Amino acid sequence: MVKKQIAILGGGPAGLMAAESLSSTGYAVTVYEAMPTVARKFLLAGKSGLNITHSEEYDRFSSRFGVSNSRLRAALDAFKPNDVRSWAAGLGTETFIGTSGRVFPRVMKASPLLRAWLRRLDQQGVTILTRHRWFGFSDGGYIIQTPEGPMTIHPDAALLALGGASWPRLGSDGSWLPWLSEKGVAIGDFQPANCGFDVEWSDHLRQRFSGEPVKSVTATSTAGVIPGEFVITRHGIEGSLIYAHATALRNRLATGKATALEVDLMPGRSQERIAREIAKQDQKASLSNRLRKGAGVDGVKAALVRELADDADLQDPQRLANLIKALPIPISAPRPIAEAISSAGGVEWGGIDRNYMLKALPGLFVAGEMIDWEAPTGGYLLTACFATGRAAASGIAAWLNGR
Ligand SMILES: Cc1cc2nc3c(=O)[nH]c(=O)nc-3n(C[C@H](O)[C@H](O)[C@H](O)COP(=O)(O)OP(=O)(O)OC[C@H]3O[C@@H](n4cnc5c(N)ncnc54)[C@H](O)[C@@H]3O)c2cc1C
Repeated sequence: MVKKQIAILGGGPAGLMAAESLSSTGYAVTVYEAMPTVARKFLLAGKSGLNITHSEEYDRFSSRFGVSNSRLRAALDAFKPNDVRSWAAGLGTETFIGTSGRVFPRVMKASPLLRAWLRRLDQQGVTILTRHRWFGFSDGGYIIQTPEGPMTIHPDAALLALGGASWPRLGSDGSWLPWLSEKGVAIGDFQPANCGFDVEWSDHLRQRFSGEPVKSVTATSTAGVIPGEFVITRHGIEGSLIYAHATALRNRLATGKATALEVDLMPGRSQERIAREIAKQDQKASLSNRLRKGAGVDGVKAALVRELADDADLQDPQRLANLIKALPIPISAPRPIAEAISSAGGVEWGGIDRNYMLKALPGLFVAGEMIDWEAPTGGYLLTACFATGRAAASGIAAWLNGR
């Protein structure tokens, strides 16, 4: 019997996972990847250890996707964090749970896992064509730009797994947007997610403290009170604690209202204690000494207080203590999407059926970050990309079988 032909457009984690799934159940799968090699963003994620999933209790895990929780739940149920770990182990990559509950490969990189994965795909007969870029629709088929010129393919079903819009130089550049829009597919504007923010630092702070981590703090926004650390940059602030607040800060900035992230520099000490201890200091002593001896605040934390305090704050122990416990860092804008870890926006859920097929384009499915969902860092992004890749693969099989 002639095998049904499936085209997967985009060779990132979502597309490769769909390719694995479909090729294991007897379909002829070809992955068309625009770049010279597949999964470049996955490899880059490996540079910071590859946080592949998270070990927290599953109900909590599956609630990390905000307004998309309910739409993603079925896909996640079918490929839970433990399944991600078993899948990686099956490819020779053992994982461990870090102190934060995040799960990493023991080798702290992505390349051995990707190599084993590509070997498995090869053994299962998957063809991967790199430097093959999807370039829109023609004659009921898909135009592919190849090094030899354009061609049009007519697979039995196709999956778009083209990624979001962050780090475009790694391949996912959102260039597909107009082709889907023209076909009536609703697409939410791409916006940076898990991104840093601009802060108008003084020259002094920028020059002296760019690159400095601000450790063991909590930060508050409408996202909640979250412990962690962040980094001062030339442009403002970034790091995991900032990413956790990114959606809340971005949404507030979009309303045009003044926006600040409130940071507690000394979460272990009460405001009263800090005010009392600072008041005990010799008022003629330098601010640095009063902060260090009275509040245990020094280095970059003291610099932040000095940066954001006015003269009246500096003279008054109560006001200094207030600032140390709730320092409002004024945010002016998110950093550009090209620098963000991930993006919000993309193909809207309303245009996708339960099987991950585009309602406007029967036979064409979508998976991964190109769908309009977002999540914090912590392994949620990759897990949902794997899970939606598998869900779309099941959807393709069901559709081809007339179910
Ligand atoms: C610096 C960084 C660190 C990260 N760290 C983590 C982490 O530790 N944990 C985590 O969970 N997530 C992490 N992420 C996010 C994670 O890597 C992404 O969410 C994930 O790679 C998205 O998978 P995807 O398959 O949907 O898209 P992508 O990985 O973006 O893959 C899409 C593929 O489609 C190809 N493509 C695009 N357009 C076309 C076209 N027209 N034709 C053919 N091919 C095309 C692209 O070249 C690309 O290969 C990180 C991201 C970054 C940038």
